Order: sequence, then structure tokens, then C-alpha cells
Amino acid sequence: MQSADEITSCPDCGHQIRVDRRYVTWCEKCDWNVDPTPLLDLTPAWRLRVEQRLVDSLYRELEQGAIHRPGWDAARVAANLLSVLILLLPLTAFLTGIALLVFYRPFWFSAILALLALTVAFVFRPRAGQLDDHQLVHRDQAPVLFAVLDEVATAVGARPAVAVAVTGEANVWYHQVGWRFNPIIGIGLPLWIGLNPQERVAILAHEFGHGRHGDARSGWLIGNAHSVLEGLRETFSESPLDQARREWGAEELSGGTLFSRMVNATVGAVVRGLSAVLNRLELRSGQRDEYLADRRSGEIAGSEAAVHALQRTLLAGTSYDALLRALRFPTELAPLEAVRRAVTEVPAREIERRLRVSQVHGTRTDSTHPPTSLRIELLRTRPATSAQVVLGIDQSRAIDRELEETAAQVLREVKAEL
Ligand SMILES: [Zn+2]
Ligand SMILES: [Zn+2]
Repeated sequence: MQSADEITSCPDCGHQIRVDRRYVTWCEKCDWNVDPTPLLDLTPAWRLRVEQRLVDSLYRELEQGAIHRPGWDAARVAANLLSVLILLLPLTAFLTGIALLVFYRPFWFSAILALLALTVAFVFRPRAGQLDDHQLVHRDQAPVLFAVLDEVATAVGARPAVAVAVTGEANVWYHQVGWRFNPIIGIGLPLWIGLNPQERVAILAHEFGHGRHGDARSGWLIGNAHSVLEGLRETFSESPLDQARREWGAEELSGGTLFSRMVNATVGAVVRGLSAVLNRLELRSGQRDEYLADRRSGEIAGSEAAVHALQRTLLAGTSYDALLRALRFPTELAPLEAVRRAVTEVPAREIERRLRVSQVHGTRTDSTHPPTSLRIELLRTRPATSAQVVLGIDQSRAIDRELEETAAQVLREVKAEL
């Protein structure tokens, strides 16, 4: 590739920089053009400062080893307590409905009120974790894959996965579904295919790490609390019809609209406040879980593999785009093979650039994960560990063969949606 040899000098500091026309040209000395398409972020500066402080303090605590024990910190306890309180709403509504039916007379009147209360209870009821429509692979279909999954789960100390969902997205995830909280591992083909065997172990160990810390269960609780708040916000906000009426000036302020507007304003404010508090609490405990899952990943796959796996996740977007390209414009190369090549040929310099971008913009704490640069830094500050679970190249290929049929089906679905 002759393009890789071109050199130019940085317009800001004059440093000699290499140009590779396939990637962004940037300066490693002064970060010139490190992010050519910065996100438009309208978050007020004070909020960014608060969030930055939160990220920094959490990182320092972990770096100093102040948090040894995975599990429940104050933020997690508070987030769960708040969620339980919010979920008392449907429970209270349910009990009220029953009490009305049993104790209150005349019956026709209590029945109307009870119906109202029971409707509220039904609408806001907690729901079991669900799996979207996915191609599932079960134990008997992929013995090699499940042997690895089981080995990783045992090493982590988590329950084994009951099924694997194969998807066309560029991620790997862990979910617990149903009232029995059955663990499901999601394998997104574009990301998965670009991982070398030990990076696969690292990512799986990270995901099972979430199962071990009980993140998934508190995630369920908090998720349900969020949907109660979301429902309330929808109920008590101005409908588009109200807005249109006001804009046209056609609305005369009757007692009814004034009342509903007041209720909307007060309930809406309380709901928004609760959402903000819950988000903030969840953020801290969620980010902490990510760091702890990373640590687990380093212990099980070896710290180098854990670091490399994190760097691979920075290429998730690239791998997804490569998949779409391969499906749109088929060549003699199989689509997943094209994806694998596209991500493995990304030069180290480009990965470094993305790391720096994550450093600059990744501190936004409303993202579910801490900045990748910090996650890698934290893994590196700890003494290097060797792997507990080793996946051989042959085993890794055997897994790809086991997934082949399902993968083909998934790719057909992705292509059909294009
Ligand atoms: Zn420069
Ligand atoms: Zn995670």
C-alpha cells in the first residue's frame, strides 16, 4: 500500500504525520483532527463537569484498589431501593382495586373505581425480561461453543447460558430472560468474527461477569422502574392535540384544562426528577460493574487479551459497516470473511486515534460504559495476568462452523432489511 508511506506535517504543531488515505489524518503529538466529526453535544457545561468528576472519582477509587469486592455499593443499593419504591405504584394500585371490590359498596360504584385502579396496576406491572426475535442456538447444536461458554461461566462463577442468540449487530451481550432469569448470551456476528480466540474468551468473560455481580437482576428491577416512570411521563404530558390547540389560540382556559395542566406540570416535574436521580445512581453503579467485569475478563482470558478485546470493540462500527457493504455489493469473498479482513487490517494508529476520541468524548456518563480508554488504562495498571481459560484456534474455527448455518440465516435477514 503506497498510500501508507505518505507524510505531511501537522498544521498546528508541525509534527511529521503519516497519511493513510483510507483513514483520518491526525496528529499524535497535539491531537489535531483526532475527531473530524465531533458530536454536537448540547449538554450544559456544568453538567459535563459534574459527570466528568463522577467518572474521574470512580476511576481513581478502582485504580487505588479501594473497591475489591464486586457487589453492592451505595449507589447500587440506592438505585434498587428507589426502583422498589417506584414499583410500589402498580402494587398499591392492585391492592386498592381488590380492596375496593371487597369492602366498598355500592358495588357498581366500587367496580368502576376498582377497574380504574386495576388498569393502572396492569399497565405498570413489572414484566419479565424478554428476548426480541432472534435466531437462537441451543446446546445440542453447538457443543464446542457451549463447552467454551460453560468453561468461562464456571471460571467467572456465573450460571451457564441456556441459549445463544446470534445477531447481525456488532456487539456481544448478556441478558437474563423470563421469570427464571435464564442467562442468554448474544453473539453479534460482525464483532465476533473479527475477534481472535483469546479475545473471544475475554469478551465472554466480561459478559458472564455481569451475570455474576447480579447486575442483570438489578438491571431488571431498575428497567421496570424506568418503564413505570416513562409511562407516567407519557400520561402526564401535554398531548400533541393540546399543543396544537394552544398554538392556534383556539383554547379557552376552562377549569378542566387548567387543572390538567397543573397536574401535568407537577406530576411531570416529579417524574422527571425521579428519572434523573435514578439515572445518576444507575450510572455510577453501572460503570463500576463494567470495570469489575473487565477485571474478571483480564483474570480469565489474560490481561493482554482483555485489552485487545476492548480495542476491538472500538471497531464495532467499522465491522458493521463492512458487513453492510459486503451484503450490498457481494464479491467472491464470503460476507463475514470480508468483515474479518476489514477489521484486522485496521492499523494500530487508527485504533489509537479512536482511543483518544473516546478519551475526549467518552466521559459522557449517560453512556452505559465508561470511556474505553479508561477501561484499558485500568486493566493495564493491574499486574498482568495469564489466561485461566484458553481457546485454541481449532476450537475457535469449530465454533464458527457450528454457527455457520444460523449465521447464514441471520445474514439473509439483515440483507432483506437493506
Ligand atoms: Zn500536531
Ligand atoms: Zn459490560
